[in-house]
Amino acid sequence: MMKLPIFLDNHSTSPMDPRVLETMLPYFTEKFGNAASRNHAFGWAAEEAIDTARKQIAKLINADAKEIVFTSGATESDNLAIKGVLEMYKEKGSHIITAVTEHRAVLDTVKTLEAKGLATVTLLQVDKQGMVNPEDVRNAITDKTVLISVMLANNEIGSINPIKQIGKIAKEKGVLFHCDATQGVGKIPVDVQDMGIDLMSFSAHKIYGPKGIGALYVRKKNPRVRIAAQMDGGGHERGMRSGTLAVPLIVGFGKACEICGQEMAAESVRLTKMRDRLQSAIMGALEETYLNGHPTNRLPGNLNISFAYVEGESLLMGMKDIALSSGSACTSATLEPSYVLRALGVGTELAHSSIRFGLGRFNTDEEIDYTIKKVIEVVTKLREMSPLYEMAKDGVDLKTVQWAAH
Ligand SMILES: *Cc1c(COP(=O)(O)O)cnc(C)c1O
Repeated sequence: MMKLPIFLDNHSTSPMDPRVLETMLPYFTEKFGNAASRNHAFGWAAEEAIDTARKQIAKLINADAKEIVFTSGATESDNLAIKGVLEMYKEKGSHIITAVTEHRAVLDTVKTLEAKGLATVTLLQVDKQGMVNPEDVRNAITDKTVLISVMLANNEIGSINPIKQIGKIAKEKGVLFHCDATQGVGKIPVDVQDMGIDLMSFSAHKIYGPKGIGALYVRKKNPRVRIAAQMDGGGHERGMRSGTLAVPLIVGFGKACEICGQEMAAESVRLTKMRDRLQSAIMGALEETYLNGHPTNRLPGNLNISFAYVEGESLLMGMKDIALSSGSACTSATLEPSYVLRALGVGTELAHSSIRFGLGRFNTDEEIDYTIKKVIEVVTKLREMSPLYEMAKDGVDLKTVQWAAH
């Protein structure tokens, strides 16, 4: 039997895989050692577990285990990468290039640096499908540019940026390249060598691992990247991030990465099929629905649709047994239209009418059937109650309507 509510918000977080939990459990109790305790068996056991996890994580992104720096999550990794590079390379300059559709962990970080007078920032626009143009990156580079930060896959619309091309330009120009790959790692192939990435943020809880643990990949050679620590302490993680390692979480992160590496190919085929079925059933049944993001070059589990004449929030209220997101999970507390959708040129109305479906490992065909039925039913009902929809159907051009002042 299918259980309600259905979780279709896998971009915001994901349920932990039971296999991950099982691997973690001993490290809370009998194997509780501190990985930095070098002189007894408890410490050695913890250190060994950390080494294994580091290798599992590095393998998934084609890095060396020594290049993985553990953090509390991708937000911290983004902060550490950007602030760490800016501080370390300030002699060269303080210009950063990033894009308008980045996650808040990147945008707010560069904004803070700019407000403090520590950086100048170029925010690149994106095309209608949410893609950064590598030539825009090239044209923005000056002799003061110390960092390019462009995300792999967008958390709202799933569009996948041309990272390899941007990496190539960064290398050509001798500028460091940071990539927030939180939504992409574990879902699509990521290879830091092939993609020319120097620093990369990602997080366990988006890939069926535990919350509170993430990593920053920091390139060790070609070039050797240096970052200034943002927290002082015991000098853990090669001095880049002090603090006792969260052994159980790291063990879980490692296992989550191992499973992704083994199952990604099959899982992405399954999710793409399920997602495409959801998309065509909804968009085939309901007129004036619009796909946001790139039609094909996007994450397997991502589907973002605008339903004209329907408020996204009302739609969510009408189907409380399905966990979805209108706009970004981070901005849905405020009623601002999603800045990502606005950046694609989506109008305010349509941005407010958008819903993000995030499919994941544990979703079933039965759940998709239920969702299709429910979305069509609720959108149809809401539109029947909408005077705007009635007018539009009667052929009134809504742009010509004189609205009464509130
Ligand atoms: C979720 C997410 C983050 C934040 O990750 P946390 O581990 O929750 O801090 C950063 N960037 C992107 C693209 C994300 O999707």
